[in-house]
Amino acid sequence: MRYTYCEDCEDAFARSMLEGDRCIYCGSQNTKKVSAGGGLFYYLGYGLLLAGAAIIIFFEDGNLKWAAFTIFLTVGFILSVQGKSRLKQKAVKMGKGEA
Ligand SMILES: [Zn+2]
Repeated sequence: MRYTYCEDCEDAFARSMLEGDRCIYCGSQNTKKVSAGGGLFYYLGYGLLLAGAAIIIFFEDGNLKWAAFTIFLTVGFILSVQGKSRLKQKAVKMGKGEA
């Protein structure tokens, strides 16, 4: 995951191709690129979300299907959100030169 770290805001945000090197918060160009690694939790979360979708497609209707779907979706969602915030914290640390 690639992030842009803004020296003025002391914050990092996920980089998109369109925004270039400007800070999305304050518009400063006093930014640097950091790469926060793969993000295991993030991808694991997305894997579970996909698994939840697969359950809907491949399982026969019944209470178990919906219970499993709900669990996969909930856990997948939590993991992907937490994974994302972990990555962002890491990106901020790297931007500050602490990691
Ligand atoms: Zn900024």
